Amino acid sequence: MQAHTILMHPADNVAIVANDGGLPAGTTLASGLVLREKVPQAHKVSLSDLPAGSAVRRYNVTIGYALNDIPAGSWVHERLLRMPEARELEGLPIATAKREPMAPLEGYTFEGYRNADGSVGTRNILAITQTVQCVAGVTDFAVQRIKRELLPKYPHVDDVVALAHGYGCGVAIDAPDAVIPIRTLRNISLNPNFGGEVMVVSLGCEKLQPDRLMPPGTIPLVDERNVETALDVVCLQDDAHVGFMSMVDSIMRQATHHLERLNARRRETVPASELVVGVQCGGSDAFSGATANPAVGFCTDLLVRAGASVMFSETTEVRDGIDQLTSRAATPEVAEAMIREMAWYDAYLSRGSVDRSANTTPGNKKGGLSNIVEKAMGSIVKSGSAPITGVLAPGEKLKSKGLTYAATPASDFICGTLQLAAGMNLHVFTTGRGTPYGLAEVPVIKVATRSDLARRWHDLMDVNAGKIADGEATIEELGWELFRLMLDVASGRKRTWAEQWKLHNSLVLFNPAPVT
Ligand code: CA
Repeated sequence: MQAHTILMHPADNVAIVANDGGLPAGTTLASGLVLREKVPQAHKVSLSDLPAGSAVRRYNVTIGYALNDIPAGSWVHERLLRMPEARELEGLPIATAKREPMAPLEGYTFEGYRNADGSVGTRNILAITQTVQCVAGVTDFAVQRIKRELLPKYPHVDDVVALAHGYGCGVAIDAPDAVIPIRTLRNISLNPNFGGEVMVVSLGCEKLQPDRLMPPGTIPLVDERNVETALDVVCLQDDAHVGFMSMVDSIMRQATHHLERLNARRRETVPASELVVGVQCGGSDAFSGATANPAVGFCTDLLVRAGASVMFSETTEVRDGIDQLTSRAATPEVAEAMIREMAWYDAYLSRGSVDRSANTTPGNKKGGLSNIVEKAMGSIVKSGSAPITGVLAPGEKLKSKGLTYAATPASDFICGTLQLAAGMNLHVFTTGRGTPYGLAEVPVIKVATRSDLARRWHDLMDVNAGKIADGEATIEELGWELFRLMLDVASGRKRTWAEQWKLHNSLVLFNPAPVT
């Protein structure tokens, strides 16, 4: 068997094994180095003798310190490493990376649904907002009936989605941090894929009252019909409702008005700059930072050059690269905003007596990631190389084009939920271990980090970035493949595997405030 290892930077003293199934002891690498022991796939091998206390480097970054002497050709795993301390948030380089402006990328378009507020949807979906978890069962019952009885009459509407969540009552709604789940829910209701048709189901007695969720003026008044329907609420405790079916009928009646308007919409050709892409990774392995995430990073640069909006997130997975990010900030204000979000998250974790190292999973380690520093270096490359021009706090709505750091937890379902609130109309998700993640609200393009996963999960993974490790494609080629697929998926010309199978993960609101 031909041994194949991946070195991320010439200054690194470890490389990862690319071969399926790993490499046995005694294997001779291309450099002539002989493995002293078996090294599993995606795991690190020491390229030189690493004395106890010396820095172990990958991505040209110290990912750990050797706890004992590690001879060349050894399997370097997490039990052999001491993790570095997190970088202080003081004295960081601020907007120091001066780059030549990137050449604009012109002429790329997709077919989207233009909204009255100027945003563009990639799907045409009726979303039903709920103020509180109590109404989830009734709403779901109504949605099933809408799908069966109404949707066939409105062929231009893709789907009906209940925005179910666990919030709305039994919570300290006046706590300062309650602003996060409330604005998240509000901004999700305004996602471009819902066409500005906001419909709310409320119980009646809940803490999160409809006008608190959607204060006057939240829904843009664009024409006359908006005046009457600005806040369209079905309240289950309303005296008019006698019996369960009366509630269901009310929801279906209201849904009909919205479906009629949504059904009149048609796709039109819009520039690629109308894409709002949220990128994230989940079930990461040591290939993530070598194959899928660099390809996504290349594609991020293409999107920024095309004038589109791209968000990267996952605070605990970029925290160890904060110096890279503050130096790439377009302005000192952007750098300060990033530092503020990191400091807030540090404090949030410390309230729970943990730090960013609580992030890694057993699967990450099995996939060769020794600790959060190594994981973060692989995660951060999704952001490409463009200047960072915007920062969002959790649940905020995107305000600008270009590359934005949308601060969110790394949790896949919470990150996706917060990027939906920010207004994404397309989601890109990379995975090494494999996750069947999907969202009902926007298309999710899944990218496998290695060919073995792409082969086994051939009807779940949309792109195989493992071709990079196999030497069958370059990062640039994969980045372009992803870019073109994005335009096809955004246009509805292609459906992702998650859409085909209707794999829909729950919305999970980030609520750092107390419950009662
Ligand atoms: Ca994630």
